[in-house]
Parts: sequence; C-alpha cells; structure tokens
Amino acid sequence: MAHTPYPSSYYAFSANPVPERPALAGEVETDVCVIGAGYTGLSTALFLLENGFKVSIVEAAKVGFGASGRNGGQIVNSYSRDIDVIERTVGPKQAQLMGQMAFEGGRIIRERIAKYDIKCDLKDGGVFAAFTSKQMKHLEAQKRLWERYGHTQLEIMDAKRIREVVKTENYIGGMLDMSGGHIHPLNLALGEAAAVESLGGIIYEQSPAIRIDRGANPVVHTPQGRVKAKFIVVAGNAYLGNLVPELAAKTMPCGSQVVATEPLSEEVAKSLLPNDYCVEDCNYLLDYFRLTGDRRLIYGGGVVYGAKDPANIEAMIRPMMLKTFPQLKDVKIDFAWTGNFLLTLSRLPQVGRIGDNIYYSQGCSGHGVTYTHLAGKILAEALRGQAERFDAFGSLPHYPFPGGRLFRVPFTAMGAWYYSLCDKLGI
Ligand SMILES: Cc1cc2nc3c(=O)[nH]c(=O)nc-3n(C[C@H](O)[C@H](O)[C@H](O)COP(=O)(O)OP(=O)(O)OC[C@H]3O[C@@H](n4cnc5c(N)ncnc54)[C@H](O)[C@@H]3O)c2cc1C
Repeated sequence: MAHTPYPSSYYAFSANPVPERPALAGEVETDVCVIGAGYTGLSTALFLLENGFKVSIVEAAKVGFGASGRNGGQIVNSYSRDIDVIERTVGPKQAQLMGQMAFEGGRIIRERIAKYDIKCDLKDGGVFAAFTSKQMKHLEAQKRLWERYGHTQLEIMDAKRIREVVKTENYIGGMLDMSGGHIHPLNLALGEAAAVESLGGIIYEQSPAIRIDRGANPVVHTPQGRVKAKFIVVAGNAYLGNLVPELAAKTMPCGSQVVATEPLSEEVAKSLLPNDYCVEDCNYLLDYFRLTGDRRLIYGGGVVYGAKDPANIEAMIRPMMLKTFPQLKDVKIDFAWTGNFLLTLSRLPQVGRIGDNIYYSQGCSGHGVTYTHLAGKILAEALRGQAERFDAFGSLPHYPFPGGRLFRVPFTAMGAWYYSLCDKLGI
C-alpha cells in the first residue's frame, strides 16, 4: 500500500519523536469517525474524548501532514475576514457570538499546551505590520473593533516603536497583539495526537477515506478497512479532494510557500526580531515571518491559486525575505516547502452538517491555526447537542467562485492582482 511521508520541511526535520501508527485494517466501530488529523480533526477529537465519546481518526498520510504541519506557526487571532464583515453579513446575535469567540482559539491552544505538556516552542506576541497610512488606519479601527468584543492586550505602534521589535525600515507602524504568538506547528499537532491517544482515541495513519456510506448508520471506507460510526466529522480541508462533492463545490485549494534559513547566531537573530515576536504584514498577499526555537528565520508568503506546487520555492521567497531583511543576503536557506490552505470566496470558514450525522468545518482561508482549534470545540458542542455557536458559524453565507471550476483560478488571481496593486499604490 502507498506510504505518504511528510514533505521535507524544517518541521518534519525537527519533529518530536512519535510512535508508529498502523493503517486501518478490517472493521471497527466507534461513536465518531474523524476524517483528517490536522488541527480541525485533532481538536474535535480531543474535545469529544474529554466528554466521553469514543473516537477514531482516519488520516490519509500522517498526523499534521497537511497545513497544520507546514504553516507559518503564527497564532493569529480572529478570522481571515474580520468581525466587522461578519457584522454586515449575519444578524447581530450571530455576529456577537462570533466576535466573542474571535480570540478563543488562541486560548484553547495555550490550554492544550499546558494541560498535555506539549513541547512546541510557544512564544507570546504577534505583530501586524503596516506599509501605508491606509493600513495603519485599518489597524486602528481593528483595535477598536476587537476591544469592543473584550479582546485587549493590543498596542498600536508608530514607526519608531515598530522598529524596536522588527528591525527593518519597511513599515510605518503596526499593531502588537500579546495574545498572539507562535509555535512549532507540527509539534503542536503531534502533541495533540498524543493527547488524543492518552484519552483512548485511535489514530490510523496511511488510511485515506475513499468512500462514505451515508444514512442512519454511516460507514467510512479506507483501502483496507471501514469504520462504522454514529457521527462523521470531515476535517480534510484543502487535501480532501472530491470525497464529499458538496464541500468541494464552493472552495478552492491554494498553496503558500515557506522557507527556513540555516540557524542564525544569537546576535543576528536579535538584530532581526529582538523580542522574538512573529510578524505578518497587512498586504492582501501577505508576508509572514518569525524565528524558530533553534533561531532560524521562517519566512513565508505568496499564494498559488489552485495549489499547483511552484518549481523553485526558494527563488520565489528569498527576494521577499531580502526585501525585509537585506542583511541576510549571505544566509543559506536550509528548507523550502509548500502547503495548501482552503480558500472560500468570502474568506470566512464553512461550518455545517450534511444530513443528520456528517459534520464539517473547512475553508478558513489562510488564518486557521486559532480558528481550527475553536472549530473543534464548536463541532464537539454540536455533537453533544449544544449547537448555538455551531449554528452561528453555519449562518455565514457561501457562494461559488466566479468562473466555475474552469475559470475560478484565473479570475481569483486577477482579483488578487488588483488588491495587491491597491496595496502597492496605498489606495
Ligand atoms: C504554508 C501555510 C502557512 C500558513 N500559515 C499560517 C499561520 O501562520 N497562521 C495561521 O493562523 N494559519 C496559517 N495557515 C493556515 C492553517 O495552517 C490552516 O488553516 C490549518 O492548519 C488547517 O487545519 P485543518 O486541520 O483544517 O487542515 P489540514 O491541516 O490541512 O489537515 C487536513 C488533514 O486531512 C487529511 N485528509 C484529507 N483528505 C483525507 C481523506 N480522504 N482521508 C483521510 N485523511 C484526509 C490530510 O492528509 C491532512 O492531514 C497556513 C497554511 C499554509 C498552507
């Protein structure tokens, strides 16, 4: 049977040791079968197990094989579109609920790390960096908006202040969120998987779900086995393919690229990010960067619509990194990789139920480290019969991409090009 290894990323290179996890063989029975062992699947499984459910996870490759084991590692609060957009889209009650939840994912991550003693290099502090006065105004409005929902620990920074924490001349200011921060993303996923297993959950790796029999007694089929369950949670996100056609219809997988430098000396690392905060800029197609536990610079950016892997990732990302930190011109890149996230037209997540017993959450459109942890909680709540917060997310409207499956990639790329031009021109 095919064996899918991790991509050759810095995270796979520095992953904590893990046990061998067998593929599913034969028939098993459980309360909930989760498809996909990324943050969405693992977080859902953990909340369910903590509440007495029996859970089995089938994972096509390995725990954290998808975006959860490849991302920038930035704990970014709120959603890919902010609460003001949600306020305009759904009714006040749902907007209120989603506003209150906007920082909960970050708290869940910290609780998980503390409760299950997960070693994943957690650091506090995330910076949103602005190039233009329009972006600064947006950050000021965002701070007021977030504070209205009770989220504090935010500081607006002028040009002088941001240069104290991000040593580049590029930005005119920014916002520091001390409830943001960063982690080694794969080690977080691996620690959560170990927590799942410590509570009796079972994870089958190299076990892609290839068919779901729907109905009152659903069954998930893998190449060599099947799981009979009362409920199914679909958490395959950008890697799901067409397993559940209705979930593929209004989303588009997109790639983002990341590099990791060779380890930097303490002096060089401090000359870039003296406080060890992570940074993302405010452009529509944004750059994101941070230091790792062993002082490499992780630098990511770029979007490939339709998720075709670019031929030379280093050639794509290195110029972006040098624009921010020209002083790194002689530094070697040790790792370069790509990962896929799932875009929706609104850039808001899709949460819902198919029939009575198939639940899903997907499509957080680039900012998902915190949201997916929250998603696990609201999916578990819904399975326990408390669906108020699940229904709030379920009320977000979703539309197909213009151009249909044939033209959605060029149409979306054209839209992104327009927004990037606006960023460059500061309009
Ligand atoms: C390069 C990159 C950088 C990013 N940086 C950040 C960041 O810094 N901060 C942030 O907030 N967000 C970031 N994101 C987004 C974030 O990583 C994702 O939103 C989040 O990890 C999605 O988690 P998930 O569990 O829903 O999906 P995934 O982590 O992709 O997990 C899905 C899993 O399902 C499995 N699967 C799929 N189909 C099947 C099947 N049929 N059967 C069994 N298993 C299946 C896959 O193998 C995979 O392991 C980034 C994304 C990428 C790609």
